[in-house]
Amino acid sequence: MADVAIPVVKPKLAGYVGFHNLPNQVHRKSVKKGFQFTLMVVGESGLGKSTLVNTLFNTSLYPGKEAKELSGETPKTVEIQTISADIEENGVKLKLTVIDTPGFGDFVNNEDSWRPILENIEARYDAYLEQENRVNRKRIVDTRVHSCLYFIAPTGHSLKPLDIEFMRRLAGRVNLIPVIAKSDTLTEDEIKAFKIRILEDIAFHKIQIYQPPQYENDDPETIQENRDIISRIPFAIVGSDKEVEVNGKKVRGRKYPWGVIEVDNEEHCDFVKLRQMLIRTHMEELKEYTNEVLYESYRMQKLAGVGLDDGSGAGNVNPLAKFEEERIAHEQKMAKMEAEMKAVFQQKVAEKEAKLKQSEEELYARHREMKEQLEKQRLELEEKKKRLESGRPGTPEKTKTKKGGLFNK
Ligand code: GDP
Repeated sequence: MADVAIPVVKPKLAGYVGFHNLPNQVHRKSVKKGFQFTLMVVGESGLGKSTLVNTLFNTSLYPGKEAKELSGETPKTVEIQTISADIEENGVKLKLTVIDTPGFGDFVNNEDSWRPILENIEARYDAYLEQENRVNRKRIVDTRVHSCLYFIAPTGHSLKPLDIEFMRRLAGRVNLIPVIAKSDTLTEDEIKAFKIRILEDIAFHKIQIYQPPQYENDDPETIQENRDIISRIPFAIVGSDKEVEVNGKKVRGRKYPWGVIEVDNEEHCDFVKLRQMLIRTHMEELKEYTNEVLYESYRMQKLAGVGLDDGSGAGNVNPLAKFEEERIAHEQKMAKMEAEMKAVFQQKVAEKEAKLKQSEEELYARHREMKEQLEKQRLELEEKKKRLESGRPGTPEKTKTKKGGLFNK
């Protein structure tokens, strides 16, 4: 899969977009830092994805169709292209990243078209998870996809197998927002009937698309606003970055012999409601849902190893089981080391004890020997004494007497 990053562009806004209203969605502290939003667009080529992004942000983020044709490159596989732009409105900064998926649905066999897109979304979750697991988590960069606009071709019939497959695979991983592309090519009645069939298909296949939440304690105005948005899903949109004249006034729209379809007119299409939800009222909510529900569920599944392959060819790996296995192996290794150390210790103690016993015995033997020698010496001395006392003349007593006798004379 080719992941082509296009350098950051600093486009000038051509008019009012409405994201300066973002501060009302979150605390003022975030205003200083600026806002960041990542939007993915998926759909067959030519359905108006680039035009819609340019219309949404009122800027020329994307080169026009002509420029694309001039570049002459038609992707051979589904590519992932990223465009980033720092845009500013009334002092409020928004770092916008748009991820396009050229090549999607454009081949004879589109069976696996969804795969590189899902892989890209999951790789972004992995990158976030990796940053969260770092010791220093101060500078986490959030590159997760906060919304995915899925462009449905304006056939007027029902969803194609490719649409169903893509939405089924991606639901639960990203905020899916289905839109009917180029809805100016359908009549009002056709759009109504098409929307009903799309919603029936979505319900039948139990596909989870993004639904703005309804809170009971919201003020009546917000509740009504949410209801209006929900009633328009899937949004029938018209994109145009060109202005046309209506009653002397310049408006963004598409001109037909029978009249003009105005992009910013709620009676003409659902573009205004889509922009309102994406940029003005639900951007933070989409990011929160991505973080708290979609990313969290991916993280938990990853930890539990459900359906995740570590690429080793061993199939699905359960990290918890792997961890448990490693823990048991480590414990066994430690127990073996402990037993070996105990054996060495006991052997050393036994050796020392034997040495001590030997020294003790040697000591006893020497002691006995010395005692015997002393006894022998004592006996000899006594014998000597006896001999001296009995047999020899001139005992000290006699000498004394003799001496005394001599003196007495
Ligand atoms: P992408 O390949 O999906 O990005 O499609 P583009 O945005 O390049 O649009 C392809 C062609 O469709 C261009 O000629 C656009 O002017 C045209 N187009 C874009 N949006 C609309 C729309 O809402 N209605 C109609 N009728 N044409 C559109």
